[in-house]
Amino acid sequence: MKKILVCGAGGFIGGHMVGALLGQGHRVGAVDRKPLENWCQLHAGAESRTLDLQRREACAEAVRGYDEVYNFAADMGGMGFIENNKALCMLSVLINTHLLVAARDAGVERYFFASSACVYNAAKQMSADVVPLAEADAYPAMPEDGYGWEKLFGERMCRHFHEDFGVATHVARYHNIYGPQGTYDGGREKAPAAMCRKVIEAVLANELEIEIWGDGSQTRSFTYIDDCIKGTLMLMSGDCAEPLNIGSSELVSINQLVSIVEEIAGVKLARKYNPSAPKGVNGRNSDNTLIKSLFGWEPSTRLRDGMERTYRWIYDDMMRALRQGRPSAMNR
Ligand code: NAD
Repeated sequence: MKKILVCGAGGFIGGHMVGALLGQGHRVGAVDRKPLENWCQLHAGAESRTLDLQRREACAEAVRGYDEVYNFAADMGGMGFIENNKALCMLSVLINTHLLVAARDAGVERYFFASSACVYNAAKQMSADVVPLAEADAYPAMPEDGYGWEKLFGERMCRHFHEDFGVATHVARYHNIYGPQGTYDGGREKAPAAMCRKVIEAVLANELEIEIWGDGSQTRSFTYIDDCIKGTLMLMSGDCAEPLNIGSSELVSINQLVSIVEEIAGVKLARKYNPSAPKGVNGRNSDNTLIKSLFGWEPSTRLRDGMERTYRWIYDDMMRALRQGRPSAMNR
């Protein structure tokens, strides 16, 4: 049994990670900036508290006494958020920087940083028919403006804290993680959750139309939360200090994603395309050669199966919100 701190534990991935670590029998500390009532999941078995990890003293206080630290804390959201809030995204460098210093000073044994496929060179993602991105494709550096630069800088900080100070750092590049217990409205939601919500809203309002950002031809791979957690735990149990893709390689267009959700909901909607909305790069997929060679494993949940579970959870949560008179889940 270890003492493990999860930062950003009130968010989507952090909430799932706290549950997984408790399930393994560890003693888990959970920290987030949000008040506890707004956490995506609050696990009774964890020691949960509210701290702003952009503050150096808060990081020192948070990591004290822990063997391992997982850093999921970041000011982030889907394309709509990161394209319009570049400075806020970049301010998350404070979190990772202060946490690394605190981890080094406290003698933390292992440190995890949640990076993103947004670090990849934009020039390698011009076509919807994209060549899957291998870890080396982050250089020469031309990441997503704002959010991607913050992640790339965070990766480099981990690398140099490992090389210069001996901190055992591990970095995952997540590719579009989705699943139950995530944000689906309020402006920070990502495409899979947004599509589920929009389809449910259209059905409830009997207005059988859906707005799609861009022309829907842009491609992505979407990674189910269980695969994300499994891959992250594997990474933290090994000795890979280089950034590692944790991403599904099942490439779909946004139009195909919408069709999957329509099929789950049993409806067909008219598609209204919004070419001026943020849509990100034209194509992105995960090359899983490295993760397969290290662990003999890659994310394998079929998108249709993961979306089914995600849709059901969002539908139930929206119904709960309606019954409770809560306008939406946007405060989470
Ligand atoms: P999330 O927004 O649900 O969770 C992030 C949490 O960090 C939030 O609860 C937020 O309140 C907290 N936080 C922000 N600033 C903080 C601060 N100053 N102090 C303490 N807590 C703070 O996001 P998520 O989807 O769970 O993502 C977790 C991590 O994984 C993030 O670093 C994100 O950039 C990265 N990532 C996620 C995805 C994805 O598709 N979800 C993809 C790539 C990378």
